[in-house]
Amino acid sequence: MIRCSKCLLPSSLPRSNFNDKGECFWCQTNYPIYKPKGEDRLLTLFDTYRGGRSPQCLVGVSGGKDSAYVLMKIAREFGMKAEAFTYKHSGATEHSLQNAARVCENLKVKHHFVSLRESEHLHVFQSFFKVWIKNPNVISAAMTCVACKHMHILANELAKSRGIPLVIWANCPIEDSPFLAINLKSTNPDQQYVREGLMAGAIRLSKTMIKTPGFTGAFIRHLSLCASGCLALTPAAKYLKFRFPKQRQIFYFDFCDWNPYTIKQELIQNTDWRPPSDVADDWHSDCTFHIIKEYMYQKMVGVSYIDGFLSNQIRREFISRDEALIKLQSAKRYLANNLENALISSGLEKYLPEIDFSCFNKSTI
Ligand SMILES: [Zn+2]
Repeated sequence: MIRCSKCLLPSSLPRSNFNDKGECFWCQTNYPIYKPKGEDRLLTLFDTYRGGRSPQCLVGVSGGKDSAYVLMKIAREFGMKAEAFTYKHSGATEHSLQNAARVCENLKVKHHFVSLRESEHLHVFQSFFKVWIKNPNVISAAMTCVACKHMHILANELAKSRGIPLVIWANCPIEDSPFLAINLKSTNPDQQYVREGLMAGAIRLSKTMIKTPGFTGAFIRHLSLCASGCLALTPAAKYLKFRFPKQRQIFYFDFCDWNPYTIKQELIQNTDWRPPSDVADDWHSDCTFHIIKEYMYQKMVGVSYIDGFLSNQIRREFISRDEALIKLQSAKRYLANNLENALISSGLEKYLPEIDFSCFNKSTI
């Protein structure tokens, strides 16, 4: 495997188009374009929601550091009347749920939990994992997490019932792997890629249904959950605008800079948030399913989300390539060592004999 001379992405990836200096396409185009609009713009927007006694915004808090930090800034520094919600599901780790509750208590913010029916999230994950393991493809892998997209719907239902006009999310473009969900070239010069539109997504989904045994069965078994999950893929989805016209969605990091070091430092200094101790990197450590997802992409394309995330950070100069490589190796060791437990705790132990644990080793050179 030949990795890019600037980041960690390999030449084996589709569309990596290495140049003669050994740089990948994403380094040549400095992916991702990320220019926050500035704190002033956010304050101006917040000012239109101030006044009155009722809560002004609802903040999604998983218990991970980014979302906890966003809640801290909004409730304490910007002085917004905020409430928070956490999406609870079978993959949510106890540590992250406790972190979410602790931070809300510390900030004196009302904390809600939202969830699907008992074990529904787990059943969907299991169904599409079973389809994937027999016929690995990107769509089946992506569909394992379709239940998670219901967090966007559940949050808006909660906001609507509480009369909260603004829903705030902590997603950041630096987290987006260029080779996974967002691979279509944008015609807008301020963007490099766009997420697939509904029609294109539906066509790809239909093709997968025809080609992949078991996929249609899994989709029909969880029909309403799969259909609405696909429609509510991101908080910016048109479906949410249509269904919740009085709620507005904003992404905090569209306005304010994302810096992994200051976020962690400020959070630990000012709240009760505690870093997880038993993980290689705290990114995505709020969900056990992420270990299985990393495996699925590692097996299919030889890299996984963490390669993309670290490479994005190298391009933004948050970390050197050498440091990132050490982090990557430790992350892959962690994933290899914890995959078995993740599969067992997800009720997928009978597939252990079919798992290629060594695929993590192949890529860490
Ligand atoms: Zn590169």
